Amino acid sequence: METSEIILSGDTAGIEWRLPVLRFKGSDPKAPKVYIQAALHANELPGTALAHFLCEQLRQCESAGLIRGDITVVPQANPIGTAQSHFGELQGRFDLASRTNFNREFPLISAKDRDTLIDNLDHRTAVDKLKRQLMHMALGADLVIDLHCDDEALQYAYIDDAFWPEAQDLAAAFDMEAVFLSDGESSAFEEAVGHAWKYEEAGEKKAQLPGKLSVTVELRGRRDVYPEMAAKDADGLFRFLAGRGVIDSAVPAASFTGPAVPLDNVEMIRAPDAGTILFHRNIGETIAEGELLATLITRPGAIDGSVEVRAPQAGLIVTRTSERFVRRRGDLMKIACENPSRAARKAGTLED
Ligand SMILES: [Zn+2]
Repeated sequence: METSEIILSGDTAGIEWRLPVLRFKGSDPKAPKVYIQAALHANELPGTALAHFLCEQLRQCESAGLIRGDITVVPQANPIGTAQSHFGELQGRFDLASRTNFNREFPLISAKDRDTLIDNLDHRTAVDKLKRQLMHMALGADLVIDLHCDDEALQYAYIDDAFWPEAQDLAAAFDMEAVFLSDGESSAFEEAVGHAWKYEEAGEKKAQLPGKLSVTVELRGRRDVYPEMAAKDADGLFRFLAGRGVIDSAVPAASFTGPAVPLDNVEMIRAPDAGTILFHRNIGETIAEGELLATLITRPGAIDGSVEVRAPQAGLIVTRTSERFVRRRGDLMKIACENPSRAARKAGTLED
């Protein structure tokens, strides 16, 4: 394992950030190259724990000469976000200086322009430098795994249609409980990488990208950071890498049996009014149309001081907010359903 650091100069005098990058050299130039990063949203640590255990396995494989494809691991991809504490609470999703989501506004370029990402970085902001360095590393790989987590959630992934159904092996290796098929229409890291590959040839948009993968894996909820879980997830990613020929190790074939639904079929359950949330249903439960999901206490103590939130259609509850107070139109749940939601959805990501 070779360790290096990318230095990112800050936006004010005297500040710089150091981004550790771990590399394992493969023996076969034809084997897929892999890029794995975790905690781009700095307060989402299940992936960092996974990467810690995975690197231990990869070091053993390296000693035994079993690594075929180059593997790059960035176990804590956002030193800027990691340092943002506001009134004692880590603020890992948005850059406080620019108010932008750390996982949006990645450059939408063609893969053939990869090297322009890190040209003349000096005049760019620290966050922009970070995004460009991460994307530059990712575009040097064939398989790109971005490890995130949700609030309270099952284990699931956002996978662009362009990689499906080939990527079922990833869902099976992780033993995922659901897959959301995305349309590639955002500037999130995973979708910007997919965009670069789709537009690699001038004047042509590739609809399918065989042999490639760029994916956001949601490793359950923010508090699901435990040694057994992280080791199990590391085993899952290891199985995927072995299955794709990156590591020389025999793995039993597995198939994905969970639901894979387009983003249009995800019901975003929003609060009709502000209030204290009493959940009746939890993640992992399959619910019927019209079933009571939550009661919101909107006017505590008053007659008729509560409202019910019911399921618009049958489905599997994949995520739930960990908060117990919600503002009007705040998100309560994501439910994976068989049919498209009747609620209008803009192209791109489900959440800001
Ligand atoms: Zn995230």
